[in-house]
Amino acid sequence: MVRVKSFVFNPFSENTYILHDDSGEAVMIDPGCFDKAEIAEIAAYIDTNNLKPVHIINTHAHIDHVLGVAALKRKYSIPFALHQLDEPLLKAVKTYASNYGFNGFDEPEIDSYLKEGEIFSFGSTDLDIIFVPGHAPGHVAFVNHAARFVIGGDVLFRLSIGRTDLPGGNHATLLESIRTKIFTLPDDYTVYAGHMEPTTIGFEKKNNPFFR
Ligand SMILES: [Zn+2]
Repeated sequence: MVRVKSFVFNPFSENTYILHDDSGEAVMIDPGCFDKAEIAEIAAYIDTNNLKPVHIINTHAHIDHVLGVAALKRKYSIPFALHQLDEPLLKAVKTYASNYGFNGFDEPEIDSYLKEGEIFSFGSTDLDIIFVPGHAPGHVAFVNHAARFVIGGDVLFRLSIGRTDLPGGNHATLLESIRTKIFTLPDDYTVYAGHMEPTTIGFEKKNNPFFR
C-alpha cells in the first residue's frame, strides 16, 4: 500500500509530499524545499527508509511549490513532470522570486507533461491525474483509489479554497473544478492539500464556507 509522508517547507508553509510503496520507489510531489536544511530533511527520509526516488510531479508551478525541483532533479537524476498549461507560470517564477526574498531561482527543466485522464504509475501505485484549473491554469491533482486519497495542491483546503488573485487564477473556474472533479470523489477520501492539515471530501462538502 502506498504511504504518504508530508513535509512543511519554505516561508509559505508549503506541504511537500513523498509517496512510496513496498517496491521502495518514491515520488516527490511539489518539492518546496529551498535551503540546505530542507533538502537534507528530504534526503534523510529517503535514506532512512531506503527509498529510490524515481520522479518529481507537480500539481502546479507557483514559487512555493517549485523551489526544490531543480536541486532534487540533480541530486537524484530524476525527471520532472508538470501540466503544459502551467509551463508559463514556471517560466515566470524567476521574474518575481526576488520579490519574495528568493535570489537566483534555479529554474528546472520540464521533462514531460502531465495530462488529464492519464495514470501516473510508480512501483505498484497508480495515481489518476485530474485537471482542476482555477488557482492555476494548469493545475492537476493526483488521486489514489487504493488508499482513498487525493493530493490536491492549492485547490481545496480545510475550510477554505485556493486564492485566485494570482496571474492565471479564476474564481468561477476554481469553484467549478472543485464541484465537478473533487466533490465527486467519495466522502471518505482524504485530501492532502498544498497548505495546512489534511481534510476529507465529506467534511468539506458539509462545512466549507465557499460551498454553503
Ligand atoms: Zn499555488
